[in-house]
Amino acid sequence: MPKFFIKTYGCQMNERDSEQVAHSLIARGYERVGCESDADVVLLNTCSVRDMADQKALGKMGMLGRTAKERPDIVFGFLGCMAQARGASLLKEMPHLDLVIGTQKFHRVVDYVEEALEQKRHRRMDDPRFSIVDVEAEIGSQSTIRDQWVAPKQATAFVSIMQGCNMHCTFCIVPRTRGAERSRTIEQIIAEVRALVAQGVKEITLLGQIVNLYGRHEFGKCDGKSPFVQLLEAVSSIEGLERLRFTSPHPIGFRDDLIAALASLPKLAEHVHLPLQSGSDRILKAMHRTYTPEKYLSLITKIRSARPGIAITTDIIVGFPGETDADYQLTRNLVEEVQFDNAFVFRYSRRSETPAADMPDQVDEPVKEQRNRDLLELINASTRRANEKLVGTKAEILCEGLSRTNSARLMGRTRTNKVVVFEADEDRIGKIFDVAIEHANGFSLYGRPVN
Ligand code: SF4
Repeated sequence: MPKFFIKTYGCQMNERDSEQVAHSLIARGYERVGCESDADVVLLNTCSVRDMADQKALGKMGMLGRTAKERPDIVFGFLGCMAQARGASLLKEMPHLDLVIGTQKFHRVVDYVEEALEQKRHRRMDDPRFSIVDVEAEIGSQSTIRDQWVAPKQATAFVSIMQGCNMHCTFCIVPRTRGAERSRTIEQIIAEVRALVAQGVKEITLLGQIVNLYGRHEFGKCDGKSPFVQLLEAVSSIEGLERLRFTSPHPIGFRDDLIAALASLPKLAEHVHLPLQSGSDRILKAMHRTYTPEKYLSLITKIRSARPGIAITTDIIVGFPGETDADYQLTRNLVEEVQFDNAFVFRYSRRSETPAADMPDQVDEPVKEQRNRDLLELINASTRRANEKLVGTKAEILCEGLSRTNSARLMGRTRTNKVVVFEADEDRIGKIFDVAIEHANGFSLYGRPVN
């Protein structure tokens, strides 16, 4: 039976897409392996959002060129956003590549893999090189990310509810790599969640590039509620589901019906990841983020009053073209005011074929680096403060498995999405229980289970 290895670069969306591909290969009789040297098929599912992920994936595939010389029978493929953005040009850079499959074609990967393996089996050395490039759009592709393999005791799962984005933030390549917004139906999503819960999953995270704008082009409002809120209500009502999360929302479209849902749906976990990107109105405009810092702040106030104790995390870009010291200071002030539970801080990196790449006044790298470091210090301090507040309290956690840093311990997440590490028997994995929080460091909490 052929063996495959799949590695994912990028976000939870890419992870979910990889699981779909893995599921379809396993269903066709392939065996998944954890190391590329054991595989007959090596697939890299790639991100294009940040230059670093792009370069890492290219470097990895470049290195695999050596393996291809020793074992010409192996099928090598690039999937996902980078494959979509670069298409056939990847074949010129990496002649050992067999497959370049875009973001609307994950469901076709298994057929293409079989075709490539078959070609390799019968290929004469003087044949021209065989390769498949498929980066075309496909109607209905949003509904093809729907199957996943659930491991024993798996407690959490991601469910993709939509694909694409129409927002056109000037730094972002996603609208180009993922296409326009397309949503699955509520019925399809409910069926997937029910199947996961039946297999023991207790927590679901609904995924979309702008998750709260789910269904805005396809489905109407009902009783003043957006399609996303209707979906949250429907998923919440599934018996056996304990926790519900969603990521990532856009401040635009985070309306009162969604805030009311935070107050009225107890299964919704107390955590919202709400990308800010900048605290400067001028820079937000240049980014084509269509909200103001004031609007963002008032949203935070509403969310916190709807669900006291809720954790709020964010994404921020420093060094966007034209960002002055004064603009950066506005971001800094806003960060101090909000006191986020955590944040991902990114140094702006130029993505070709995005409007921001050609903007004047690109910020020098040392300046970006300095702002990055400064903001991280500020965020780390507020993360530490938020964690320290929990020491001496009891928190409900869902135990996800072994701690990544110490396999003699287990780890779980609070409803506020904070990691708690503790010692206990492995039969706790997949269960929900309380832990007494005993101490905190920068990003993790440490505790012991209590009954
Ligand atoms: S909302 Fe903006 S940043 Fe997010 S995926 Fe869409 S274009 Fe990219």
